[in-house]
Amino acid sequence: MADSKQNMAGISVKNPVTGQEIGVVPKSTRDDVQAAVERAQDAQLAWGAASVEERCRVIRKWGDLIWENQERVMRVIRDETGKNDTGAFIEIIGLDNYIAYYTKHASEFLRPERRQPIFPIIQRGKVYHKPLGVVGVISPWNYPMMLAFLDAVPALLAGNTVVIKPSEITPFSALVTADLAYQAGVPEHVIQIVTGDGETGAALVDYVDMICFTGSTATGRKVAVQAAERLIPFSLELGGKDAMIVLADADLDIAASAAITGSCENAGQMCISIERIYVEEKIYDRFVEKVKTLIHQMTMGAGDGLDIHMGSMTNERELLRVEEHIKDAVEKGAEVIYGGKRRPDLGPLFFEPTILINVDHSMKIMKEETFGPVIPIMKVYNVDEAVRLANDTEYGLSGSVFTRNLALGERIATRLNTGDVSVNRTQAVPASAAMSWGGQKYSGFGGRRGDKEGILRFTATQSILVDTQIGYKPGLTILDPTTLMFLKLMRLARRYVPFL
Ligand code: NDP
Repeated sequence: MADSKQNMAGISVKNPVTGQEIGVVPKSTRDDVQAAVERAQDAQLAWGAASVEERCRVIRKWGDLIWENQERVMRVIRDETGKNDTGAFIEIIGLDNYIAYYTKHASEFLRPERRQPIFPIIQRGKVYHKPLGVVGVISPWNYPMMLAFLDAVPALLAGNTVVIKPSEITPFSALVTADLAYQAGVPEHVIQIVTGDGETGAALVDYVDMICFTGSTATGRKVAVQAAERLIPFSLELGGKDAMIVLADADLDIAASAAITGSCENAGQMCISIERIYVEEKIYDRFVEKVKTLIHQMTMGAGDGLDIHMGSMTNERELLRVEEHIKDAVEKGAEVIYGGKRRPDLGPLFFEPTILINVDHSMKIMKEETFGPVIPIMKVYNVDEAVRLANDTEYGLSGSVFTRNLALGERIATRLNTGDVSVNRTQAVPASAAMSWGGQKYSGFGGRRGDKEGILRFTATQSILVDTQIGYKPGLTILDPTTLMFLKLMRLARRYVPFL
């Protein structure tokens, strides 16, 4: 929790739709952060000593409390981001999915594993997965609840305590969810939130045993340098420029609706947003027409209910970049065939879903992360050109391929240089907790979310060998005659016995 002793210089948090202040949070100083990490170190002793099953029980209860209080949590998320009900519910279901998965599998994933020692039978080998200590989490504003805790859940189950620095733009989503953790019985200081800005985040990197960063590539690089100075493990989940490829045999109704939902969820402010679409020549015109027809049916506004398809953007900086990318594209020959304007009648940061055609790779909209509700569609001659263009980026987060030929879709997917690809869906891998995901190139480094590797990255691996001393004779050389004989025998055995 934000500690009462924290520096009283506060950060005002505003509702992006109404402009009204939601509240003020402390701007935690370096000393505040250090103190929080020290409390977390103390708390880790008991938390790390508890059984995995006990930790799972408490975290599962926390998940149930979040689910039961979803309307309250969604209200807080919506108030500070301006997103619609769908976007807020995706955060609830996304975290719930991770909690369900990891509380079910953590014991199995963390169990010590048998390994073959140099002399089998007379020796036993095991690999243990031990907690790292205090894990720091630095999270962004676009999914402020889910991304504050998606890494925290496996980190906690692995026996670490966590100190989380949410974005200064959206701290309350993390605070309200951490409150529920304490109500669920998570012991004091096992989860702490330090509110503040970039300086607070930088301070956190200086004290924790591991840092998990989600945010922009530019800030991620700074965090990586700082973590490398301290030689602590770090993971970076960064920006993206995800491509969607539509083949001539695709179901165009499905592909067109996926183009819209994949690009416009959370007003396009999603790391795995579809940011560019490559469509085979033969069906290009029909596809564009379908997207255009469908997008007319989209509803936008600040109202409640899942029938509002798109909410507000969250801050002016993002909106300005969206406008700049569209302007740059139009100046270089692109055409806006739908949208392209602000909607001040709905709120200061609403921006229409926008379709751009006649785009190419000389334009920022096809190369840099736009992070807004823009759908740039480019005609390609064939699959090879689509794959080449999809890979023509510094990013490598996610992507999608649409085709009725499922085997071909899977083959094309393997040619994309991204951490995951969905065929005939968008963003489906990150929604699947049992499938790991994480970016390549400028999109990420140092560990993936989900699956077994998504929890083991919060552990230190320790290998332990136990020798029964059978046949062991004390001596002054490690190559005594018995050992030498065993080594020679083992060399032969390893060549001919399959399980050795
Ligand atoms: P930023 O990089 O601006 O900020 C991310 C977090 O880092 C915030 O909490 C921020 O604090 C903090 N921070 C800022 N400066 C420093 C610093 N020097 N040291 C440590 N922490 C610092 O990203 P945004 O919040 O703007 O998030 C949007 C970006 O996140 C997009 O690029 C998006 O693609 C990416 N993202 C990636 C995801 C993934 O899983 N790959 C998921 C979601 C988003 P403060 O905000 O208070 O300044």
